[in-house]
Amino acid sequence: MSAPSRSPAPIHRLAPGTVERIAAGEVVERPASVVKELVENAYDAGAASVVVRIAGGGLDRIEVADDGSGIAGDDLELAVERHATSKLPALGPVERIATLGFRGEALAAIGSVSRLRLLSRPAAAAAAEGIEVVGGARGERFTEARAPGTTVRVTELFFNTPARRKFLHAAAREQVEVVRTLEQLYLARPSVGLRLSGEAGELLSLPASSTLLEAAARVLGGEFPERSFPVTGGAPGTVAIEAVLGRPALAGATGSGLYVAVNGRPVVSRGVAQAVRLGFGETIPRPRFPVGVVHLTVPPGQLDVNVHPTKREVRFAAPRAVEDELRRAVRLALDRVPSPSAPPRAAAPGSPDADRPAPTFELPFSASTSPGRQRQLVGLGDPGGPSAVPGGSGRPRLELLGAIDALYWVASSDDGLLLIDQHAASERLLYARLLEGGTIARQTLVDPVLLTLTAAQRAELDANAAAVRDAGFEVERFGPTSYRVRSVPAYRGRLVRAEELLGLLRELSDGGRPTVPDGVAERRAASIACHAAVRAGDVIERTTLAEILSGLDRLSDRPRSCPHGRPIAVHLPRSRLDRWFLRSGA
Ligand code: ADP
Ligand code: MG
Repeated sequence: MSAPSRSPAPIHRLAPGTVERIAAGEVVERPASVVKELVENAYDAGAASVVVRIAGGGLDRIEVADDGSGIAGDDLELAVERHATSKLPALGPVERIATLGFRGEALAAIGSVSRLRLLSRPAAAAAAEGIEVVGGARGERFTEARAPGTTVRVTELFFNTPARRKFLHAAAREQVEVVRTLEQLYLARPSVGLRLSGEAGELLSLPASSTLLEAAARVLGGEFPERSFPVTGGAPGTVAIEAVLGRPALAGATGSGLYVAVNGRPVVSRGVAQAVRLGFGETIPRPRFPVGVVHLTVPPGQLDVNVHPTKREVRFAAPRAVEDELRRAVRLALDRVPSPSAPPRAAAPGSPDADRPAPTFELPFSASTSPGRQRQLVGLGDPGGPSAVPGGSGRPRLELLGAIDALYWVASSDDGLLLIDQHAASERLLYARLLEGGTIARQTLVDPVLLTLTAAQRAELDANAAAVRDAGFEVERFGPTSYRVRSVPAYRGRLVRAEELLGLLRELSDGGRPTVPDGVAERRAASIACHAAVRAGDVIERTTLAEILSGLDRLSDRPRSCPHGRPIAVHLPRSRLDRWFLRSGA
């Protein structure tokens, strides 16, 4: 590359091959995007079932075979050409598109950055015909035996664009993405069966389902139906809504458990996710997100899918109207669910949490708290909050008085009152330990816990084996889909529930929790810390919190907030209390 100079550089046209490869980057980011384009083509061809095989997480080989309409031999060359499509009239409106593809770019784009082999047979043809494309150059034509349908094989993805290849992750990571992408495609159109296999055997088996609930159970787990509720609604001309959503207690730590499809197309839409979230209102606490499947159908003219080459983002002509309908439908459906307002940390039936006593609420100024008993005095650095504790000669002393809802502790400080979030405090301390290179203590279980993992969870476990071990989970395979959890993280005498592993996997696959400041190591540490930490709802001893606070106090940076930026403590200075009680002159 030449250094910028003061005289203008001459402008010239790029060679067609270069243009192709730049354009390919917009459609083909990684193996999962290839899989998505090829499966969408199969959907458009009316396939009843699609079989996907990958090697090396899709980096070495991807093969997608369908039983759809096929491509006529004479059209093969056009199919792999840019801007050639059978889905739009040559001159005509792009607005009323009902197919998933229409830009005529995918096969050309994939072919320009890989070795692509397209083999297809329409039902009326006697044999299948094929064509090869190598790095954008037309290769051989051939004929083979094949049942009606199409097979596309893509090998050595990005072999001619090494820079792009460098941005990809290890095979295990890319495989996770492929699994997820297929789950999204399946949940967008459950009437088409999907299968995925890798070198080690079957990764996904998602037979065609006639109901959304049946499909959702296949992806979200066998217990999903009994812990979900249906949502239907909408307004004619605006949107038709069909959804199955997990009850509030199933809410996840990230937004990735919500699958959204618009007109049969899997999409990412902040607006839609937000509308669902708002429909749940206060029934799920702030940092948690709804899970489930949402199908929206809008009149084709009301949807712009041409926002981005991958068509993952869509624009509604009337987004507010759609979102309002959705929010209302979720709210109404939730109202019909027995005991809709599950407490924030509603425990799964039979889980240890379910047997815990109700959260205690001790009045800080009750005369009968028998002062001295169980009370702890700890020092704490500047706890942050609306205003800082005045430094004075030493640090303020704290007296822990009691906890509200097994979450917020009330403490008296040298200057007023302090409210402490037990989860944030514990999480921040663990996070610091992990970043220092520590691991979390584990406790071997007398009775190992059996967990059934979905295909996506199994792929995530493979991809995150080391991080899961560092987090204190020892997991071994027990059957085709079952795993045995032999040890769990143990933190100050409290054992983490084996089921927390599932949430951890979800997060690690998303790259971990966002942190301030951001970074890969930080995000992973934050995820692990969050799942091993004392939680909201855990009844802990004063001594436990006192130890955590002293631990925080000894950290060099004396943190004021948890890794995600939520405050650990809020300080109410004595002067504020005086003002509230109209003692300003005191
Ligand atoms: P688009 O899907 O936007 O039309 P593609 O490059 O993905 O563009 O595909 C080009 C054309 O090749 C499609 O319009 C379709 O006619 C044909 N085609 C691709 N894949 C298949 C398939 N699996 N079955 C039948 N036809 C296909
Ligand atoms: Mg296409």
